[in-house]
Parts: sequence; C-alpha cells; structure tokens
Amino acid sequence: MVAGQMNCPSCHAVISSRRSGKCGVCGEALPPELLFTDEQRKKLETQMAELEKNHRASLDHLNRVCEHAHSGTFAPPPIYNTKDL
Ligand SMILES: [Zn+2]
Repeated sequence: MVAGQMNCPSCHAVISSRRSGKCGVCGEALPPELLFTDEQRKKLETQMAELEKNHRASLDHLNRVCEHAHSGTFAPPPIYNTKDL
C-alpha cells in the first residue's frame, strides 16, 4: 500500500477525493478514518494529547487540594488508591 493513498473498501478503487465522503467510482460511503488526511489526523492527535494533559493537570491540582485538606497523613490521594476498592 502506498503511503497517503487510500482505496475504497468496497470496490478498491483509489480514492481521489475524500471531501465528498463517498467513493467516486462506486459511490459507497467511506469510513471516517479514510476521510482524514495524515495532517488532519496528526492535528487531532495533538488536540487529544493536549486535552489529556489539561485533564491530568486539573486532576493533579485536585489531588493536591485533597492532600492539603488531609494534611498530616501520607495516604495517597483517593483517586489513585484503587487497590482497596
Ligand atoms: Zn468504491
């Protein structure tokens, strides 16, 4: 398979335009993962990673607040203490 080249899963024709969301040969709807270019996919992945990072940061912040509230104990923040559940 040539990098950057997509084939219709239905008729295996090379997909020339992904914008229509359909195969130009047989008219079959293309799966969403074929509709993204590598660039778009990378952008999405970066956005997801960024979201994940922000999510972790806010979790981290919450844990620190919790730890502060429970100051005097060395118990891990409840959210990480899953073994006893
Ligand atoms: Zn097709």
